Amino acid sequence: MKRKLNFNAGPAALPAEVLAQASEAILAYEKSGLSILEIPHRGKEYDAINDESRELVKELCGLNDDHEVLWLHGGGRLQFCMVPMNFMSQQDSAGYIVSGHWAEEAFEYATHYGNAQILATSREENFSRLPQWPVEISKELAYVHYTSNNTIYGTQLKNVPNCKVPLICDMSSDIFSIERDYSKYSMFYAVAQKNLGAAGATLAVVHKDMLQQVKRDLPPMLSYRAHAEKNSVLSTPPVYAVYISLLMLRWIKAKGISAIEKENVAKAKLLYDELERNSKFRLTVKRKQDRSMMNVCFTSRAKKDERSFIDYCTKRNITGIAGHRLAGAFRVSLYNGIPLANVKKLVQVMQEFEAL
Ligand code: PMP
Repeated sequence: MKRKLNFNAGPAALPAEVLAQASEAILAYEKSGLSILEIPHRGKEYDAINDESRELVKELCGLNDDHEVLWLHGGGRLQFCMVPMNFMSQQDSAGYIVSGHWAEEAFEYATHYGNAQILATSREENFSRLPQWPVEISKELAYVHYTSNNTIYGTQLKNVPNCKVPLICDMSSDIFSIERDYSKYSMFYAVAQKNLGAAGATLAVVHKDMLQQVKRDLPPMLSYRAHAEKNSVLSTPPVYAVYISLLMLRWIKAKGISAIEKENVAKAKLLYDELERNSKFRLTVKRKQDRSMMNVCFTSRAKKDERSFIDYCTKRNITGIAGHRLAGAFRVSLYNGIPLANVKKLVQVMQEFEAL
């Protein structure tokens, strides 16, 4: 089967070697005599997958045993609930940086559990730039939550912001894409289906100090502490999704995050330079320093090209470039699994389209 060049925002393209290993495991998982879909979640095979994957996360993040690494269910939205449930009491306040749709949704979920406040927002500019990070942050806040990469609008905060209260970050769409000082976070989380594998597994990394300060009596499935105490096997975990994340983590380790970052910089530069130059398109994020290396958003100068460029790409085996309905005509996602060669091909197709 001829594979398409896939620029979807998530679930997203995975490296061919990861897909090959994942498919082998469906028929026979190592020497177990079983499919990965049949292994028990409390047996030695899954123990090894669970332990190695969580150790690899710590190693790639440069973290020691002060942090707990958890595999959870429920995607990003469940984290929007669990973060305030665990770390903000009904009387507490927590600060939210509202830089995009998912950041705003995280804020709205938090309003159910206490006094969630917007510290900064770029909503009025339709999130086409990052909001200014607040100069002063009240020490009274239980935590500050932000989204490092805004998947829908194509903006990204690449450095780790200064913050004197616990810092919590949704890294769903840029985890392991650039080097970061992960030790600065009290907590971060990421859905797997972009840079880290398949839908169904969500990674959460929590500093142990935070687990000591949980504010509510929660049912175990909603409590980070309960998941940590049970080594992420509180209920039946998404075994196959965690296994694919393990394959991705091994792949990331073999390449090295600094090499991955270099390639991501090169991919993004190639595409942004073309979009600056190409007379048929217009970038939606004007401030260069705000532009995401993971999701590149743009529109066509002529309305008629919105459909015709997508059709043109479809005929050339390129898929996943339609923009989110909230943002603009096109979005090209350049996650870790996408090789530079695919971006070169897309740029060539853009140039051919311009010359029509
Ligand atoms: N956060 C970010 C940054 C996202 O891009 C998304 C969308 N995949 C979510 C959270 C929501 O994730 P889910 O669909 O798994 O709830």
